[in-house]
Amino acid sequence: MERIHHWIDNQLTASNPSGRSGQVFNPATGQQTGEVDFASVDVVDRAVASAKEAFATWREVSVAQRIAILFRYRELVEQNKLEIAKRLTAEHGKVISDAQGEVARGLENIEYACGAGELLKGDYTEQASRGVDVYSIRQPLGVVAGITPFNFPAMVPMWMYPNAIACGNTFVLKPSEKNPSAPLFTMELLQEAGVPAGVVNLINGDKEAVERLLAHPDVAAISFVGSTPIARNVYETATRNGKRAQALGGAKNHMIVLPDADISLAADAAVSAAYGSSGERCMAVSAVVAVGEVGDTLVDAIGSRLEKIKVGDGSDPDSEMGPLITGEHRDRVRSYIASGRDQGATVVRDGGEDDIAGQGFFLGASLLDHVTPEMDCYRDEIFGPVLSVLRVDTYTDAVTLINENPWGNGAAIFTRDGGAARQFQFDVQAGMVGINVPIPVPVSYYSFGGWKGSLFGDTHMYGPEGIHFYTKAKVVSSRWPDPATSTINLGFPQTR
Ligand code: NAD
Repeated sequence: MERIHHWIDNQLTASNPSGRSGQVFNPATGQQTGEVDFASVDVVDRAVASAKEAFATWREVSVAQRIAILFRYRELVEQNKLEIAKRLTAEHGKVISDAQGEVARGLENIEYACGAGELLKGDYTEQASRGVDVYSIRQPLGVVAGITPFNFPAMVPMWMYPNAIACGNTFVLKPSEKNPSAPLFTMELLQEAGVPAGVVNLINGDKEAVERLLAHPDVAAISFVGSTPIARNVYETATRNGKRAQALGGAKNHMIVLPDADISLAADAAVSAAYGSSGERCMAVSAVVAVGEVGDTLVDAIGSRLEKIKVGDGSDPDSEMGPLITGEHRDRVRSYIASGRDQGATVVRDGGEDDIAGQGFFLGASLLDHVTPEMDCYRDEIFGPVLSVLRVDTYTDAVTLINENPWGNGAAIFTRDGGAARQFQFDVQAGMVGINVPIPVPVSYYSFGGWKGSLFGDTHMYGPEGIHFYTKAKVVSSRWPDPATSTINLGFPQTR
């Protein structure tokens, strides 16, 4: 059984002073494969102290040198893509191709941070007043912390620390305790790339570690990604403690299908967006809204595709959908099929009835039709392979449904009508919008974030807003003596 430690000062910690730890499973076999140390307050304090000490020198390192390190890190992540992906599959369960996709999306964020030279440029106004120039610079905050969820253990931290350290901050990462091995491995790669000791530390743990980070006087900012109740609490506590905070929460992403849509395209999109990574994506489509007469054809098209999804161990290249993260979560997800049926939905496909061998935390693809907004399967974030179809009469009904939903991460529309698509982007209350794109995750040079219960704070993550979050502005107004009065002969006449 592997013992998983913290990473402080570019080395693994040896002891576990808290005496507390958590179990790590391979969700495909249901077997425990690791035991992860949980940080005590002392360990968190050590990590923050190390980052604080490193900040003093890291902020003096030139932008060119920081970028050179990030370029080397980018190469190392690229070379080790498969190795990282294997660790993701072993502890998260997602299929290996999906795990490689996760690393690829993380790489985009490292590449973005490699542009720090361009991103950190300030503005300059010459002669704002006679003899006075005014310019702006952006400076790092100090020690910043990231707290991340189980569903993207490598990528979500990469939304944060490449930009944070490119800006001159030092970083403390608290990844999910459910699958800590991939983020820990990336710490070794950071060291190999030349990141000095203390610039990025990683502490494993649970609520105790998070609460210490939120209270620690030397932590200047908190980036959080996870479920809505925890995101709300993290945001409120961090800001109450005077920290800058961005906290991304859960989601209920809708995909509207208008009557003129290409049904085959829409069904393919709904299947990949709802069941990819077993629905454990914050941008997964969990509610398809069929407008007008499109419902029956669409449900048939989606249902027929579900029979072909090969569910199995993610390390098997033939598997298309892996297990859920824990047995407890699998049972909770499955309960929504039963509650949907009890509350009047039509169960088109019950993945709980699939015969999947072994002790893994598997659940087959499930489809509920005639779901209504009062049902629990619609009201809650399920975070599993259960797709609900709601039927409405008009486009306006569909948009109203989305806008009345308490979450607002992603929303998509499938149509051939440009006017309808344009109206949708104008009307919809969500932070990320897809037009014939089911999972509209922005590329790394835009920023990621939802509205309503999907984001607390005013700053989205990564991209330009990430750079903004990890820096504070300073404006300098400067006046130098009139050259005419200079002691050096600049060749000016004495009076001008
Ligand atoms: P989670 O909220 O349970 O955990 C997230 C982090 O918070 C973990 O590091 C965990 O250790 C810590 N944590 C858990 N309970 C805590 C507590 N009581 N106090 C302080 N810290 C605590 O989320 P999860 O189950 O790991 O991830 C799934 C959730 O994350 C889903 O709701 C999903 O929608 C959301 N998510 C959102 C985004 C986004 O960009 N909006 C992205 C990925 C995941």
